[in-house]
Amino acid sequence: MELLRLWQNIHQEASDLASAVEQLPDECECGDANSHLGGKCPCCRGHMMGGNPDDGQNCLSIISSLQADLTVLGQDLSIAGPALGAAALETQQVELRRGLFLAVGDLEAILEAFRRVTESVVGFRQECTILRMRTVKRRCVEFRAHCDRVNAELLNQRLRAG
Ligand SMILES: [Zn+2]
Ligand SMILES: [Zn+2]
Repeated sequence: MELLRLWQNIHQEASDLASAVEQLPDECECGDANSHLGGKCPCCRGHMMGGNPDDGQNCLSIISSLQADLTVLGQDLSIAGPALGAAALETQQVELRRGLFLAVGDLEAILEAFRRVTESVVGFRQECTILRMRTVKRRCVEFRAHCDRVNAELLNQRLRAG
């Protein structure tokens, strides 16, 4: 897949994930963390905005799509900049499409933000507490913010290019 298309997928998925997680109640009394993340446990019924919870997006399936897309992106990064120090990564760029570039450091930051999302999900699955669920929500919002910022940079480049 073309890198720009891949990026657009990731940006969309980051946005879908943050809004899907946002709709879930903080508290899951039944303790079935996986169903809760899918919006399908008894605690979710009646909380979900906009009708049938079955229509809602399953956070876990969005996370696994993101995992797959980011793995491909990460592979492209390692081709672009193998064995480079952090300082070199800051200035190195990957071409997504003719004339559209991303700093490798930005992409690394996105991978790191996603790692924090998955880490928070593991924590929620273990403990299923309100605190853990709020951490998941916060990390998803942070991840989306990283993706939004990078996407805005790409749009700017496109405008400058005419
Ligand atoms: Zn529950
Ligand atoms: Zn639930």
